[in-house]
Formats: sequence, structure tokens, C-alpha cells
Amino acid sequence: MAKTFECARSLILEAVAPLPVESVPILELVGRVLAEEVKAPCDIPRWDNSAMDGFAVRAADCGSLKSLQIDGYVPAGGSTCDIHVSPGKAVRIMTGAPTPKGCDTIVPMEDTEEKDGHVVIKGWVELGDHIRVRGEDVQKGEVVIAAGCVLRPAEINMLASFGLQNSSVFCRPRVAILSTGDELVEPGEPLGPGQIFNSNAYSLAAAVSEIGGEPLLLGIARDNRESLKEKLTSGLQADVLITTAGVSMGDRDLVCEMLQELGVERLFWKVDIKPGRPTAFGLKDGKPVFSLPGNPVSTMVTFEELVRPALLKMMGHQRVIKPFVKATLNETATKRLGRVQFLRVRVADNGESLVASSSGDQNTGILRTLLRANGIAVLPADREQIEAGEEVDIHLIADIEGLDAAK
Ligand code: AMP
Ligand code: MG
Repeated sequence: MAKTFECARSLILEAVAPLPVESVPILELVGRVLAEEVKAPCDIPRWDNSAMDGFAVRAADCGSLKSLQIDGYVPAGGSTCDIHVSPGKAVRIMTGAPTPKGCDTIVPMEDTEEKDGHVVIKGWVELGDHIRVRGEDVQKGEVVIAAGCVLRPAEINMLASFGLQNSSVFCRPRVAILSTGDELVEPGEPLGPGQIFNSNAYSLAAAVSEIGGEPLLLGIARDNRESLKEKLTSGLQADVLITTAGVSMGDRDLVCEMLQELGVERLFWKVDIKPGRPTAFGLKDGKPVFSLPGNPVSTMVTFEELVRPALLKMMGHQRVIKPFVKATLNETATKRLGRVQFLRVRVADNGESLVASSSGDQNTGILRTLLRANGIAVLPADREQIEAGEEVDIHLIADIEGLDAAK
């Protein structure tokens, strides 16, 4: 019996777990999920320092138009061992330089005038001005990045500011991608009669890479037992196996049968969704095996709705199901009762709310309307018709604007 969409997705998500943890060099950390919280090994800043180019002074010395003798200089990276600010004197200081002893305030260069080895302070000086105090950003021992955080450039800056060169993150899944079909030819090879290019492998590889997985292209298995057995066996070595096509009811649709023969435990075959109904899912030694339908639109939509959350979970992400955005449907949509329909839509912001319009022909054979779409409206199984003006749930697959090029 076919599973409901929600049931199929839950079965998948219950079956997969985060991968082991590895230590990764800082230059390769962006987008990875931190496996262990990071505690600050030191205060940041490590010492009081100047926030401006200017003069280190004692605030009490800085009455109006007071002239202070310049006595010393601390550049960024300089030492303050031999330098201190004596009463009535000022030390020239650069941004980021440690504040010398005796100083309690920095006067920015632009609020001063220099003359004959002296500096005249113009304007009002507040005690403590322009000093960055030790630990004001981060204090030693506090948790600055929680486990499960997706590392962005800002987190990477923080890690580097601690002097770290590596961090512990969840491994990226190696995702084997197998296309199946006697009609398929790799791009670059000549096409014979009745043949088409294997395009699914490339969209899947792109989709896997885009979320941080590592695609492994296995090439094409032909629609016979020997070829499928050989390719599926090698695919089962990876962390995840995704196959496309050969899962429908045709007499050459042998993928499910062969997976079973290779010991893959089937959790479901067929989901009440459109497109993507023939999707199957199983486990081999705990590793997930997705059998997606062959139509390029079905392949991509089932990846987006069923495979992507699983890969994200394996990579340690905590929020694996894309949040919905709400949009008003621009035209009435009719659909089959009992199935979730994934409608390819263009979502636009009309200034007040988001409006979703069909991106065109919804036939599974029409890839063009997926190129035009920036969202997938998830229309509920228990409805036969959604009226124009009703609110629908959308999974955005691209920015709300900027699709002009795909028209
Ligand atoms: P099937 O499920 O094997 O009947 O395939 C469904 C449709 O998807 C057929 O029209 C296939 O030619 C097409 N198809 C299957 N595999 C691929 C692929 N790798 N790239 C592009 N189209 C494919
Ligand atoms: Mg086929």
C-alpha cells in the first residue's frame, strides 16, 4: 500500500542518523555543522586596546584645549612593556594596539591637533572612551558556538580569532547516484535512435553538492539484472544510494526487485504524491537507499521533498524540513483526492503578501516549468480543489525575485 507523504518522510527521517564526526580544516568549514560546542579558550579581546587611531591619555588631564606632551607611541602589534601614560602626557596609539598603563581613555586623532611635540585636545573627553575592554566581546570559558550550529563566515571568524585551525563537524555523506535505463547515454556520447541523455545524474549531483553532500556518479545501469546487480552493489558501498527510474510497473522496471535481492530491506514503495508516486525507500546495513522515479521533474521534486531532509539529518542539521512560506494561490488548482500534489509555482511579492501562480504545464514530462518555478506548493491530500485566493504552503526553491532569466 502506498504511504502518505508525511508517513514516508517520517519513515525516512527515523531511519537515518547523523554521520560520525571528523576534524576539518578551517578553510573547508563553511556550511558544515559543528559537532561539539566551542568554548572560548581566551577572552576576546585578549587585552584592553584602542578602538581608534589617536592618543592614549588620562581623562582627568583633558580639560578644554589642554595641551599634552606626546611621550611614546604604540602601533598595532606593538608592546606596552616600556610605555606608560604619565600625568599630563599622551601616548600616540593606533587602532588595535594595547592600551599602555596609566591610560584610561583614548582621544581620536580627529579630535586633536598636534604642535611642537604636543597634542591639543579639542572637544569633550569621556572617561573610558574608545577603549575596547578585555573580554567585552567574548569571555574565556563561555560557549560561543553551540553544537549543531551551521558554520557561516561569522562563526569561522570567531574560530580563527581563537587561533583554531580545525573544528569537529559531522561528516558529509558520500551519495552514490545511479541512473538506470536502456535508453540513456552520457552527455558527450553520440545519441542513437530512441536514446536520451542521462540528465538526472547531473541534477542529483548538483542537488547533493548544493546542500553539502559528496556525490559519486556510478554511471548508467541497464534494465537487466546483471547490470543492475553490478552497479547497485557498488552503490551500496556509499553512505547513501540514490537510483533513478526503473521503479514503475513496466516489465523492465527491475530496481526494486534487484535491491531486494541484494538484501535491501524495503520500508516503502509508492507514496501518495504527485509527481513521484513510485518512489521507494529501503535500508541496507542501516544505509538509506532511495529509488526515485525517472522523469526529471519527479526525480528532482522527490529529492527535494524526501531525500534532502534525510541528507541534512545525516550531516547533523537540526532543522531538516524546509519551513513553509504562506502564499495566496492566484488561480484555482484541481488535483486528485488522496494525494499530496507538488505544484511548481512562481512566488511573487505584491507588496502586501506573497502570491503563488502556477509556473505552467504541470505534466511530469515538462521540466521547463521547474526552471520557471521558485517554489513548490504542497497541496494537501484531502483536497480536490484549492480555490484562487486560498492560502497555500510553499517550499521555496529559489529567491522570490530574480527569475526573469528563466522565462
Ligand atoms: P522509467 O521510470 O524508467 O519508466 O523512466 C521514466 C521516464 O524518465 C522515461 O521517459 C525515461 O526515459 C526518463 N528517464 C529515466 N532516467 C532518466 C535519466 N537518467 N535522465 C533523464 N531522463 C530519464
Ligand atoms: Mg526505464
